[in-house]
Amino acid sequence: MKQVLIAIIGGLILISGSCSSAPKKKVVKPVKPKPVNVETKIEHDKIAGLFVFPGGKLKALVMSFDDGPDQDKRLIEIFNKYGIKGTFHLNSGKFAAKSKASLDQLKTVYKGHEVSAHSVSHPHLEFLPASKVSNEILADREKLEKVFGYPIHGMSYPFGTYNQLVLDLLPSLGIVYSRTVTIDASFRLPKNLLVWNPTCHSGTGEYWAKKFIETKKDEMMLLFIWGHAWEFDNAATDSAKEKKLDGDRKYLRAPR
Ligand SMILES: [Zn+2]
Repeated sequence: MKQVLIAIIGGLILISGSCSSAPKKKVVKPVKPKPVNVETKIEHDKIAGLFVFPGGKLKALVMSFDDGPDQDKRLIEIFNKYGIKGTFHLNSGKFAAKSKASLDQLKTVYKGHEVSAHSVSHPHLEFLPASKVSNEILADREKLEKVFGYPIHGMSYPFGTYNQLVLDLLPSLGIVYSRTVTIDASFRLPKNLLVWNPTCHSGTGEYWAKKFIETKKDEMMLLFIWGHAWEFDNAATDSAKEKKLDGDRKYLRAPR
């Protein structure tokens, strides 16, 4: 439990992401998980009573971005400019062709932010046998830990998909939280750290940020935004109207 709490708090402080690399050709619906009998399944009320946000604040922001690393650099420059911390979920398979000098540069780029797992090769984990799921995650952790120099316990699901086998394996693979791409459309703390649904995608981040600022409650609230840095490249070529329509259609839900 102590390890879990450290991870939660670390994730929140560092402000966190998952993803898919290039636009998906095949849409695979996330598998609805059965209840997970692991210690990471903690009810919201219990989580809220176990820790506080830095400074005792009631609101915290998590920025959680997937895939990296090339397009993350500009986003991190913007985060640094405005004092925002992010979590960046990386596929270490992309590091294979990079020189040691390039990897050292990456360490500098991500300094002050959290680097987290996203599998080695970005497969659909739910289609793999246990041995391959384990290798995708453990090898990713191992490589990231070697490059960045600290324990990696967070993750986001490649394509946002998983099944019960993946959920059952994660604790033994050293993963204490994993983010999905299922939009929760709320500011609640997670009920299950291995099925951590974000508030929104970055495409509707402005809408939810405004709502977050306006919402006044005497309880801890979390604005959890996920996306990919490369989507901002795509967005730069779109009209504002197209972006809004696309974002609304894909990600926007009425708040609960
Ligand atoms: Zn991804």
